[in-house]
Amino acid sequence: MVVNTDVLIIGGGPAGSYLARYLVKNGFNGDVMLIDKKSIIYAPIICGELLPSENLLKPWIGKDLYNVLLTTLRETLRREFIVNEIKWLRLVINDHDIGKMPFRTYLIDKAGMIRNVIEDAINGGAKVHFGVTAVKCVGKGDGYECLVHDRGGGEYVISTRVLIGADAYPSIVDLGLGITSGFRAEDLIIATSARARGKYADDEAVIVMDPGIAPGGFAWIFPRGDGVHNIGVGVRNNIAWRGSNPLNHHMLFVNKYGLKSTQRSVLMKTLPVGGLLNKYGVGNAYLIGDAVGSVIPTNGAGINPAMMTAHLLGESLIHGSDYALSMNRLFRPLMDRMVMFRRIGDPLLMSRDAMELALRVSKSYMAGSIYEATLSSMRLGTLIKFLIGNLLIRLISSLA
Ligand SMILES: Cc1cc2nc3c(=O)[nH]c(=O)nc-3n(C[C@H](O)[C@H](O)[C@H](O)COP(=O)(O)OP(=O)(O)OC[C@H]3O[C@@H](n4cnc5c(N)ncnc54)[C@H](O)[C@@H]3O)c2cc1C
Repeated sequence: MVVNTDVLIIGGGPAGSYLARYLVKNGFNGDVMLIDKKSIIYAPIICGELLPSENLLKPWIGKDLYNVLLTTLRETLRREFIVNEIKWLRLVINDHDIGKMPFRTYLIDKAGMIRNVIEDAINGGAKVHFGVTAVKCVGKGDGYECLVHDRGGGEYVISTRVLIGADAYPSIVDLGLGITSGFRAEDLIIATSARARGKYADDEAVIVMDPGIAPGGFAWIFPRGDGVHNIGVGVRNNIAWRGSNPLNHHMLFVNKYGLKSTQRSVLMKTLPVGGLLNKYGVGNAYLIGDAVGSVIPTNGAGINPAMMTAHLLGESLIHGSDYALSMNRLFRPLMDRMVMFRRIGDPLLMSRDAMELALRVSKSYMAGSIYEATLSSMRLGTLIKFLIGNLLIRLISSLA
């Protein structure tokens, strides 16, 4: 059986759902279909569910990019999806409590938010099918064909003029059409996700940078406001499986930080932190969200960046602007800067001893750099700080 559509979006996460709604609400001329392999709309959630408040990033990023961020936030984040308001970021490095810094963010009900966007898309005329997995996509004539399996055991082909990979990393669209060569192992994070109780303030997000627990990444405690927290550990892929498995890092964190799991299972997912891939599409096939590498490399935030890439592609499909040009003008400068910051910080993120030594050299310098990188700062001052930090880290590494 062959089903025809004008646009096929593979993946109904923040990127795919946002794009489906954008297209139908903005008068796209043609059929829009979205498929997702999950049986239930956006469950289970593997995420910290933290989103920035409207003003948090305003002083730190460019105006044009901020405007896109604001639009995506305003179009998706309604009051009913806010579970908790967070005021502070507490930074813990190795075992040292470095203190707290202003951090206006929201803990959200991500599944609820996405369900709402998908309902809007359906009401606008999009055809949405959950429980349908794309198995292979190929170019056919001047369009594309994807072989799909549905949850009932059926198999059919979807033929489309425009194909969107919104299916996170690695994307079946990217793999099938050979758009990019993907990420290197050191540019991927294996992240765990769970809920737990623990004695932590309800208005503070806690970030733990400790290479003994989370080599190449960090661990987090994001309060939901009722004594339960979203917690997780991000470990760099090239070390995550070395001799153990990432769940051991999670258990180490839970035990050391006095957390008591409220659910049986710990979920895991791969997250790209190597910045944007070198290409965003080929012909009429495009990549958005995690599939194109839109996660902010310094902090792992990917919900809003995914929607921002969907927004830029939506504009291009409706108004004829060039997606690659918009991405390169608006988003790439920030992403390239954040990859650079992450790479500069890597030697510290990988070694507890080097981290300890760096703290002894200057605690406030380190705390300031980490804070500004977490806020995705594009300020010249932050760049200079990181370049000096780079020299310092090289010096420290030669001493360690
Ligand atoms: C543990 C963890 C914690 C995180 N915490 C945060 C946070 O606090 N704040 C934040 O901003 N970001 C966070 N992120 C990142 C964020 O979750 C992602 O960047 C974001 O969800 C990306 O959106 P997306 O739509 O591109 O991909 P996804 O949300 O991954 O959605 C992709 C969809 O594609 C579907 N799919 C995949 N393959 C196929 C296929 N072959 N056929 C059909 N469907 C398919 C999947 O089922 C999925 O629903 C976290 C990530 C992890 C792993």
